[in-house]
Amino acid sequence: MPRQDTTVIHAGEGASDRARPLTAPIYQTSTFVFDSTADLEEYVAGGSGRYLYSRYANPSVESAEAKLAALEGAEAAMVTASGMAATATALFGLLAAGDELVASAAIYGGSIHLMTGFLRKFGVTVRLVPMGGDLLAHIGPATKVVWFESPTNPTLRCLDIRHLAAGCRERGITSVCDNTFASPINQQPLALGVDLVMHSATKYLNGHSDVVAGALAGPAALIDRLQPARRFLGGVLDPSAAYALARGMKTIAVRVARQNESAQRLAEWLAADPRVRTVAYPGLPSHPDHAIARRQMSGFGGMVTCAVHGGLAAARDVFDRVRLIQRAVSLGGVETICSLPVLTSHYGVSAADLAAAGVTDDMIRISVGLEDPADLMADLDQALGRGPAGAAS
Ligand SMILES: *Cc1c(COP(=O)(O)O)cnc(C)c1O
Repeated sequence: MPRQDTTVIHAGEGASDRARPLTAPIYQTSTFVFDSTADLEEYVAGGSGRYLYSRYANPSVESAEAKLAALEGAEAAMVTASGMAATATALFGLLAAGDELVASAAIYGGSIHLMTGFLRKFGVTVRLVPMGGDLLAHIGPATKVVWFESPTNPTLRCLDIRHLAAGCRERGITSVCDNTFASPINQQPLALGVDLVMHSATKYLNGHSDVVAGALAGPAALIDRLQPARRFLGGVLDPSAAYALARGMKTIAVRVARQNESAQRLAEWLAADPRVRTVAYPGLPSHPDHAIARRQMSGFGGMVTCAVHGGLAAARDVFDRVRLIQRAVSLGGVETICSLPVLTSHYGVSAADLAAAGVTDDMIRISVGLEDPADLMADLDQALGRGPAGAAS
């Protein structure tokens, strides 16, 4: 009977000396082998650059991190198991009991849950500032972190990033920008003065709706400071997912350029349609933050939100009639998808809070993919139907 000795079954042993793959290999391993005690001693002393354990570091994960750092113009980056893992790593890494966090209320719902449901339990004061309020005006002596997103979901309002970053820097407060909606192709918050960028890499960075991942990017000293939080909270990215993320990032520039172009065309087409009540897209001159968007973005993104005449009933009809466009949450992939904010991201939010956020029940949010824009318009045209009674005649 053959011996089941795993130590001798290394079919590709030595291949790393002879084979130079064009693509970064997937290091699908939890642990790494040491040759000797001396080898291990060198590692623990910090000088060898070797790997120990994949919760600490893994070459496939580092390959994705190097790509993201390059895209954001950052010294360093860290990828995580989800966007929420990145947010948790950043917030638990930066804040302690007694500290205060000032955050825009117009941020991802999960981020708000983490802040109000968890950080508060550990003695952090959380101040949420409604859309339109100046975050800087809410900073107090104990404020350590200011957290915001731009463009926001689903109204795509833009905050003046340079203004916020400068105000935080002046006061020695760490500013963090969730750059998920813009992607680094359209907006580079670090260049605008922000300290730390956060991503749901699930969205545009991966771009294919097949991976859940997150990321942080910023100065090496800040990313290093957050390493223990990722390591001990445990939100590391699996090597296979890191590979898929890195592969997605190879095409982000062409994907996002096309999505910008298609979204602009779709937004202009919708804005000219009498069946549509309003269109929110930062690339439209009618958008309330068009001027800010032009200053800080190099492209206006692939997200378009429109509202139809006839309230939720009319929005539901359009939502139920789309054929090419799929009904799904999330964003940033190659397939165009749409969602109803009041039934997804803003489900259960009070009427007063919806009004403060500018969210209405007749809104449909569209994440524009890579299909021919003519096909998307044809689909929306049939889905809009004859419009509500009255608008039709
Ligand atoms: C999706 C999303 C998140 C959360 O990311 P996950 O990858 O789902 O954990 C955070 N911020 C924004 C803006 C998002 O769209």
